[in-house]
Amino acid sequence: MTFSNPWFFAAVLGVLGVFHLELIVTLLNLARLGRPLSPALAEVFPEKTREKLQEYITDGKKVDFSKDAAFLVALILFWWGGGFGWLQSWANSLLFGPVETAVVVILFALMAQMLIGLPFEIWDTFGVEAKHGFNRTKLGTFIQDQLKGILLMAVMGLPVVWVIGWFFQTQVQAALYAWLFMASFSVLMTFLAPRVLMPLFYDFKPLETGELRDAILALSEKLDFPVKEVSVVDGSKRSSKANAFFAGFGKTRRVALYDTLIASHSTDEIVAVLAHEIGHNKRHHVPIGMVVGLAEMGLMLFLLSWVLKSPGFFSAFGVSGSPVGMGLVLFGILYQPLGILTGLLGLALSRKNEFEADAFAAAALGTPIPLMEGLKRLSRDHLTHPQPHPLAVFLHYSHPPLVERLAALEKL
Ligand SMILES: [Zn+2]
Repeated sequence: MTFSNPWFFAAVLGVLGVFHLELIVTLLNLARLGRPLSPALAEVFPEKTREKLQEYITDGKKVDFSKDAAFLVALILFWWGGGFGWLQSWANSLLFGPVETAVVVILFALMAQMLIGLPFEIWDTFGVEAKHGFNRTKLGTFIQDQLKGILLMAVMGLPVVWVIGWFFQTQVQAALYAWLFMASFSVLMTFLAPRVLMPLFYDFKPLETGELRDAILALSEKLDFPVKEVSVVDGSKRSSKANAFFAGFGKTRRVALYDTLIASHSTDEIVAVLAHEIGHNKRHHVPIGMVVGLAEMGLMLFLLSWVLKSPGFFSAFGVSGSPVGMGLVLFGILYQPLGILTGLLGLALSRKNEFEADAFAAAALGTPIPLMEGLKRLSRDHLTHPQPHPLAVFLHYSHPPLVERLAALEKL
């Protein structure tokens, strides 16, 4: 570690910069919790709900801040204590080939990240979420989820890491190949996630025949959006928060509704929420989002391949030579601030798409009222921030704030 190394300063500035930026955004956002509400919002959030959501959001931010601080301290201690150099020599001493050594280093980093994050996940689930009445996760389910997560990482994550490591170890055009590989992998995942991954964690049951099922099928018919199956997901096994999504494409498409959504919303509201989701499909938001994501990934891999060729980058972290696996781990640290920047475009696009999907739903149903009522109920039930700070929206929000969506719907 030399202080004349520009990579060292860039990395320190990046890591500390992100930490402080997040802290400032959090404080700005919390400060706006006490602001008086406009009449439209006051109707959505009665006084009692406001007290509850102030406490809930503040408690959640305490967890987030503590987690960020723990990661920062752990990183600085490990880094400045020579941890990265030690990790590389230890991995080398195992005498595997270079690609396997890379996988060992990456695995170590992933496990460390998981272990440091675990207490905060426990605090969030059994502390904050439980205190505010959202948590339904039993300890057994939580432990099972963790083990399944580790198993998935071993079965799916490790081979991916191995392939990426192999490209960068052996190929001149590694960034291009890695990009093509990741693009195919993410397309594969959109097929696999609802069929193979989600059923590992949730139970899918067909929705009983009745008013709700008829209304959903009538909507899909009216909008020429074929649906093969309507399923109910036991979201209530983990949280009282509601959700719904479409999975699959074309004639094999399925709708999944969380049981918690069915329990807390009227048929009209659920149909409006689904019309919004169909709007995303009809306006091609999914493939567009994927293209933006892949462009982002291409940029990231290009930067990675450039960084891997800079010996100064490795020595900034106390590592000699330029081992690929370590390069990926260290790049992950450096990419934090860059990732915020490159993510801004995707978030802005996503917020724009939400308005479009809302407008589609209102036009399809001939009225914006049920969607407005559904959005209000979701915001109230989930205790979301009624008027987030614009900087927080700009940096983090994939959906526009409730008040903006209601205003846009009102105009229709
Ligand atoms: Zn949406």
